Amino acid sequence: MTYDPNNIFARILRGEIPCNKLFEDDHTLAFHDIHPQAPVHVLVIPKGAYVSMEDFTAHASDAEMAALLRAVDKAAEMTGAKTGGWRMLANIGANGGQEVPHLHIHVFGGKRLGPMLAKG
Ligand code: AMP
Repeated sequence: MTYDPNNIFARILRGEIPCNKLFEDDHTLAFHDIHPQAPVHVLVIPKGAYVSMEDFTAHASDAEMAALLRAVDKAAEMTGAKTGGWRMLANIGANGGQEVPHLHIHVFGGKRLGPMLAKG
């Protein structure tokens, strides 16, 4: 999949549309999901143009990779999600249910999150 520079997260990174920012650093941006599925629901994204985790692990620098993992941890810390436990999740491609084609890691917390996958 080629990177679409007009995807919604690319537009947020360029400042073309707003987000409810939690924090940012040189390599990452963390912001609250617009349709939260838990009391804490934050998205952590790399600033680089990576479609998915596959693209990221193949092409990102070690510094970008370390920054993304540390940002996920920081998002859990800042939101209080670490109290009681939390979940990180990345949807990848069609089977994964990925809607926005810019790598994003969901951080959920603040309640019992239930089973990892919907039963069915
Ligand atoms: P995924 O299905 O893993 O691609 O998740 C995409 C997520 O992006 C969903 O949880 C959406 O609610 C969220 N989302 C879409 N547009 C925005 C936006 N403008 N600001 C914040 N979150 C968004």
